[in-house]
Amino acid sequence: MTNSPDNGHDHEHDNHFDPMTARVRALETILSEKGLIDPAAIDVIVDTYQNKVGPQNGARVVAKAWSDPAYANWLAEDATAAIASLGYTGRQGEHMRAVFNTPQTHNLVVCTLCSCYPWSVLGLPPVWYKSPPYRSRAVMDPQGVLEEFGVTLGENVNIRVWDSTAELRYLVVPLRPAGTGGLDEDALAALVTRDSMIGTGLARAPE
Ligand code: FE
Repeated sequence: MTNSPDNGHDHEHDNHFDPMTARVRALETILSEKGLIDPAAIDVIVDTYQNKVGPQNGARVVAKAWSDPAYANWLAEDATAAIASLGYTGRQGEHMRAVFNTPQTHNLVVCTLCSCYPWSVLGLPPVWYKSPPYRSRAVMDPQGVLEEFGVTLGENVNIRVWDSTAELRYLVVPLRPAGTGGLDEDALAALVTRDSMIGTGLARAPE
């Protein structure tokens, strides 16, 4: 990058934030000065999604579905209610749909438009989920994307791609790994990774 005086950007910055952080701080300052937001409320929301809500919630849902056929049926029919029954509710009241992997079908979730993601069960989305290459290639070349994530499916397995929206968000229920018949829900939940609930991974095999 050149430093010519006509590029409009050759001055010393008066803060040490990167441009995006600086814009966010500026916006937050303006909104709070106008009384439109309460910074303390924002802090609570950020803390909640960074520290209290995460893939461990979704893992509980999956482990229960693996262990309890009646719950699995409920999850298949009304995921929003079945997930809410465990205390995980959407901040914006969006609807959830659970899509179940089978030996014949692998499900993969994307938001082609932006970054819609099931926050209540998975927490904050990973950076790659929001990236343009993932958003376009998950649709055009889902098998190639899965290979990059180290997931190799059998030749006869179909990949179904689900495009999230602000109104409807998806949770993948991965296949229960072999050799887990004797495990309780806590042990099962430990095998359920974030990526396995997006579809870019599989559940872990037991020790
Ligand atoms: Fe989106």
